[in-house]
Amino acid sequence: MSKFQILVVEDDAPVRNLIATTLKANDYRFLTAATGESAVMEAASHNPDVVLLDLGLPDLDGVEVIRRIRSWSNVPIIVISARSEDIDKIDALDAGADDYLTKPFSVDELLARLRVTQRRLAQMQSSATQSAVFVNGQLRIDYAAGCVFLGEEELHLTPIEYKLLCLLARNTGKVLTHKFITQSVWGSSWENDVASLRVFIATLRKKLERAPDSPQYIQTHIGIGYRMLKVE
Ligand code: CA
Repeated sequence: MSKFQILVVEDDAPVRNLIATTLKANDYRFLTAATGESAVMEAASHNPDVVLLDLGLPDLDGVEVIRRIRSWSNVPIIVISARSEDIDKIDALDAGADDYLTKPFSVDELLARLRVTQRRLAQMQSSATQSAVFVNGQLRIDYAAGCVFLGEEELHLTPIEYKLLCLLARNTGKVLTHKFITQSVWGSSWENDVASLRVFIATLRKKLERAPDSPQYIQTHIGIGYRMLKVE
């Protein structure tokens, strides 16, 4: 049995059972909750490693559950929502969720998300995130020197591209919303200027990605934002 423990928050019993069966079959430990209030209580008393959180709960809004958990915990939160609820996903990510799954999702997608989160946790626990040099696959950022390398080659980035890359790198594995990125890179006057952001991501990818059309490092989440993937 893995020591990894997952809190599953879902009021819809068939979906909850499907998730529970999948986790059991893959040797994950888990707890379940069917309401927002009980989710917050379970999270506080059991300190799970990951929270899988359905956004449509009978008592509390899912985003409110995230805010409450975030007031004392950095536990990774993966939200689950229906395809029509993109705006809810964005609110959830801005409130501190790390990732999302869209209903209906496959068992493979669920397991893939959990693996991403496990890798991210491992990375957070190693001191790597605090170090002066960031390494991911061929990509190396020397924060102190302000230099970026891809293999042996130094990349010549503009100040904005560099800021954007560092923001994504520091949050590897986490989906960042357009709003979060534009606010962090340019400040609130540019908030949600998605068109400009898209242009900067495109120029950054041209320098960073061997094949900009099938990016290895920066993943697009259509209508939502971007994420830096951990490259093996
Ligand atoms: Ca629900």
